[in-house]
Amino acid sequence: MGSVLVRTNSNLQEESSTKNQLSNHLNMNESDEKTCGDFQENTWLYRSGRFGNGAVGLHNFGVTCCINSVLQTFYMTKEFAHILERFQFLGTGEKEANTPHQLRNLFDMMQRSKEPNIRPRAFINCLKKNGINDYIQHDAEELFLKFLNLLNSQMQNQALAKEITDLYTIRVYEYQQCLQCSAELKNDSYMYSLPVSIVNCRTVEDSLIHFFDFETLTGRNMYLCKNCNVDTEKTQGFLLKSLPPILNLNLKRYSIDRRWFRTMKISNTCEFAEHLDFSKVLSADKLSECTEKQNELQYELFAVVAHSGYSAFYGHYYACIKIHTKWYKFDDSHVSETSWKDVRNTFGGSYYCSTAYMLLYRKCPTSPSGTVS
Ligand SMILES: [Zn+2]
Repeated sequence: MGSVLVRTNSNLQEESSTKNQLSNHLNMNESDEKTCGDFQENTWLYRSGRFGNGAVGLHNFGVTCCINSVLQTFYMTKEFAHILERFQFLGTGEKEANTPHQLRNLFDMMQRSKEPNIRPRAFINCLKKNGINDYIQHDAEELFLKFLNLLNSQMQNQALAKEITDLYTIRVYEYQQCLQCSAELKNDSYMYSLPVSIVNCRTVEDSLIHFFDFETLTGRNMYLCKNCNVDTEKTQGFLLKSLPPILNLNLKRYSIDRRWFRTMKISNTCEFAEHLDFSKVLSADKLSECTEKQNELQYELFAVVAHSGYSAFYGHYYACIKIHTKWYKFDDSHVSETSWKDVRNTFGGSYYCSTAYMLLYRKCPTSPSGTVS
């Protein structure tokens, strides 16, 4: 099933071994404890910044707009921040290079800031010590996975690290069926984001349907069926098992241009709404293995990482994030109020407009009666 994982983790339209490795590094031990020992009350109240809601800009040190945008989405995911708040550096290693420690410090500074923006120099230095440089433009989705990877590998308290990765873990079965003998194969798998194609998909719902579509392996893609003892045609795809509290949809906006050995941006329109209902997107057969009820598959959009420019490694990133009922634009050191109408302008359709690249959704809470509140 190796070929399936490529589809899982690659943002590019073609194979990306780097990202597969990233995802593999994120592998968590299933036997880890479910709870974290030391409980302490949250003191991060999100009252700082010029709007009094915690929104604080981050200074750009050259080409750090991508880092800043991804950081703001983590910071404004309070579920994430309040887990990180409980982190304590206990190691004997270098504090300056410990990502969870430096990220916690940065968030603490943002919580206490009386200024509209701060300079995240210590955190940028920490990233540099971990091989993430501030002088190149990054890919936001890749950076999202790298941050999770660093947090996971550098937290001594693995129960706490697991709480963080659990926030984002999408569980699926990799499914295959031999078209000759009908033998089925199901493997547990997981992802921290859904990399969905936007080619020939007008809406995010179309992209999700496409992602969960089965494909048929024929010709050179056939391989041995142990039952039939010959190479056979197979159908393969994903079956959804469960969705996380925070769902990251990665719109695959880049493809490799083999003639020029560079990534090209796909500027197609892909529309999305503030509400996403998975129970309406996926057909009953695709949800047959899903452990969640219909009312647990409702999501609200709260963050969009957008990119302007022609290529993944050039241009400018910013984030739009919904705080309570209002949308704000986080453009490096500048945070301003924006509107859903402006967020909709990132749907795409032109090379000249900013386009949404990462969409972050929060699962809607359900009431004891089972209805979405
Ligand atoms: Zn077979």
